[in-house]
Amino acid sequence: MRAFASDEQQPLDVQLLSLPRPSELARELDVKPKRAGQAAEALGLHTVGDLIEHFPFRHEDRGEARPIAALSPGEDATVVAQVRRISLRRPRPRLTMVEATVFDESGPMKATWFNQPWVADRLAPGTRVVLHGKFQNARRGLTVSEYEVGTDASHSAGVVPVYPATEHLKSPKIRELVWSVRDTIRHVVEPLPAWLRVAERLPDRAAAVDAVHFPEQEDEEPAARRRLAFEELFLFELTVAARRRARDEELTAPALEATGELVDGWLTTLPFSLTGDQRAATEAIDADLARERPMQRLLMGEVGSGKTVVALHAMLRAAENGRQAVMMAPTETLAEQHLATLDRLLGGHVPIALLTGSTPAARRREILDRSASGELGLVVGTHALIEPAVVFRDLALVVVDEQHRFGVRQRAALEDKAPEGLVPHVLHMTATPIPRTLQRTVYGDLDVTALRELPAGRRPIQTHVVDGARARARAYERAREEIAAGRQVFVVCPLVEESEALQAKAATREAEELQRTEFRDQRVALIHGQMSSRDKQEAMRRFAEREADVLVATSVIEVGIDVPNASVMMIEAAERYGISQLHQLRGRIGRGPHESLCILFGDPKLPRLRALADSRDGFELATIDLDIRGAGDVLGTRQHGMPLFRVARLPDDDELLERAHSRAEELLDRDPRLEAAEHALLRGVVISEELIPA
Ligand code: ADP
Ligand code: MG
Repeated sequence: MRAFASDEQQPLDVQLLSLPRPSELARELDVKPKRAGQAAEALGLHTVGDLIEHFPFRHEDRGEARPIAALSPGEDATVVAQVRRISLRRPRPRLTMVEATVFDESGPMKATWFNQPWVADRLAPGTRVVLHGKFQNARRGLTVSEYEVGTDASHSAGVVPVYPATEHLKSPKIRELVWSVRDTIRHVVEPLPAWLRVAERLPDRAAAVDAVHFPEQEDEEPAARRRLAFEELFLFELTVAARRRARDEELTAPALEATGELVDGWLTTLPFSLTGDQRAATEAIDADLARERPMQRLLMGEVGSGKTVVALHAMLRAAENGRQAVMMAPTETLAEQHLATLDRLLGGHVPIALLTGSTPAARRREILDRSASGELGLVVGTHALIEPAVVFRDLALVVVDEQHRFGVRQRAALEDKAPEGLVPHVLHMTATPIPRTLQRTVYGDLDVTALRELPAGRRPIQTHVVDGARARARAYERAREEIAAGRQVFVVCPLVEESEALQAKAATREAEELQRTEFRDQRVALIHGQMSSRDKQEAMRRFAEREADVLVATSVIEVGIDVPNASVMMIEAAERYGISQLHQLRGRIGRGPHESLCILFGDPKLPRLRALADSRDGFELATIDLDIRGAGDVLGTRQHGMPLFRVARLPDDDELLERAHSRAEELLDRDPRLEAAEHALLRGVVISEELIPA
């Protein structure tokens, strides 16, 4: 939210940003006031408006300012006082001490600053200051950790805001800057209509902004924070709701009737029956497909939960209607895996083809021809599907697997391949469960269906976190026993975020090493991201056909590989992986009729690893992850398109989010085009998101 309505925002006075003029000594010690200006740039503070909108991320209760005479040794104290004398000492090279005598009505006290020589310049005798720090004792006085200058410095006592800051522009300085422009706060604009503020009992914006920076009464700050958090969530929800409504109204998809012509027969050929969750998902999707409103549904289910069958069910509906469906996966490995699964499940019912970057030219031409003519009902592939040369006669359904790995534009490019005037239905899939509390923000405009129930016959995976040479030796022994019993083993190498090349090298070394030592009597294969796709395919084939007992891999196997005979997974340096990544990795085992074992090499005391040993439920783990890391970090916010809220905190503000959601819907019901005068500012926000034509 911009603070002021006018375009000309007051530029921030750079004078305000410079540190106090450094003394000769300060200069000698390399304290550069210019850096404060640069720090302001780095924090995005260019105008007074920016400064006002730079909200504290938390508040600290300093307690009331205390009379000097009442302080007791060891106390964390805040004191409002006046400077009587001040001097700078340099007892040792690299150590400066500013020592002052300060006083209030109750008496005098010594105050000391370490290594902040400029303080001596800044606090001339007579200056009123708020000092915060540790009171040592009557003789040594107060060691100051933070201080603030001002004739009215009372804003430093009590509940004190803590700002996002940098080394050269620290929180107290920011507080001081905001204080210096406090008068302008009453001019901030109010985007929320009065009816909404009344209904939600929200203070007006100016009051809330002021109270967040300068809380005076005890309960003022929470109410102010709630107001600003609500506003943030509401604007987000309004944008999402407007986008969704625009899509529903303006776009038309081909309605796909459930004739049963293909699907009914196909279902009877499956070697299993659908789980309850799978059935519910296919029903929800059928209902979506039957309408002209384009489906935008997310199918969320962990690895092995059987998403592919559900997707195929939908794809066959397109085929039943004489139209086409396409499935896009983020890697060739995964696309190939899908083709294999689909082929197996289809049993030759419907023609299907694979199109990736490594499809040979002649084959590619053939696929393109058959796709353009409509003869090819189903296509699976990678990004290669997006290329302009790929044309469909009658694309009705797009399935995007691991949808978060594609950019918005990539998905849109595929959706653009529907016939003139129509958009396809879209089924997004993800194996990364997202706690319910975050779904609304991460997948704002998607309908979400979850597969929680694993297909029958799955044996639970035992997970152990092990540490130390002896435990490691025992782990390899267990792995060899499994191999002797006819099973196979994955070894996953440490994640090297910085470089895929380094990771590949480490994996190669690990494979050689294991072949020489622990698995000298077994056959070790290797797969990593730097191998050519042909080599990867060959490694996968060898492992799948039991020509190798051990597959040493980098995290490339996170998605894709389906080898039900593999029953052991050993993950090196498990602490480098996130909870959901580890959970996905181990989903590669436990796919057959055998007991499976996952060994995480790492510190058994790490809560993250312990959680994995204790829980097998992806949703539960995602929730634990959220608790441990907070919403901002879970799953990588950018990757998942998770909006970054400045004031709102999820999942804590969950309830506020729900309120914001229903109020946004209510507003659009009342005034769909935001034409009322009191909605003009909201309209501005939504228009800037290009959702309502200006
Ligand atoms: P996901 O894509 O969700 O990881 P898949 O769709 O690849 O999972 O399914 C994993 C395996 O489980 C496949 O081999 C599939 O044939 C099998 N499968 C799917 N649904 C069921 C079911 N209801 N009962 C038994 N096996 C199933
Ligand atoms: Mg899958």
